[in-house]
Amino acid sequence: MIKRKVALFGGTFDPIHIGHTTVALVASERIGADKVVFIPAKRSPLKGFLPSGSDSHRLAMITLAIAENKKFDVSDFELNKPAPSYTLETVRRFQSDCGPDSEIDWLIGADGVDDLQHWYCIEDLIDSCNLCTMYRAGCDRPDYGKFEKLWGPRRVEKLQRNVIMTPLVEASSTEIRRRLAAGEDVSGMLHKAVVEYIRRHKLYCNENQTD
Ligand code: ATP
Repeated sequence: MIKRKVALFGGTFDPIHIGHTTVALVASERIGADKVVFIPAKRSPLKGFLPSGSDSHRLAMITLAIAENKKFDVSDFELNKPAPSYTLETVRRFQSDCGPDSEIDWLIGADGVDDLQHWYCIEDLIDSCNLCTMYRAGCDRPDYGKFEKLWGPRRVEKLQRNVIMTPLVEASSTEIRRRLAAGEDVSGMLHKAVVEYIRRHKLYCNENQTD
């Protein structure tokens, strides 16, 4: 039986940008996902600092950025949990909500490859979903060969099989926050509605804002 595919895309999305939506769309086409769910994290266990945009602002900006794509959805599941959020718990929750006829993919960008070894119960995560790694501008082509001793050849082969060649989009939330704080142009990196939202709410005017 062909399973329904659901791609989950976690991140801080502080703010969501064109890179996120572009690679998510291409990845969903490559893997045949019927749906992509953007899941903003309350706090990244690895980033070690709080996002500068509040939970509600980040959620609102995602909602605006994905509005025109019927395949895209957003979940506040991790925002409603006590911090920090662990991907394995989120995947299990979606597996149980979507049922056995669905297959869960988790999308990450190539900059996350080296961090993965520090993720909570990473081996269980690799085994229990398809961890799909997307290309990212400024990063090496994703390659898990060096993790073979750590995770074993079967897991590494699965990770390599799930590398997705996505377009290289020069956008990062850090650079966008820097540009906004410096009063520089960000229009090519953000969705129009998100630019307007940021202006209206005066977000990211200084680097450490949390409102
Ligand atoms: P920051 O610059 O603050 O690290 P970010 O731009 O990486 O932010 P996140 O919200 O941390 O944004 O990213 C969520 C996920 O999207 C991560 O897996 C990240 O690797 C991926 N991602 C972000 N931007 C891109 C991009 N331009 N191309 C491919 N993947 C991306």
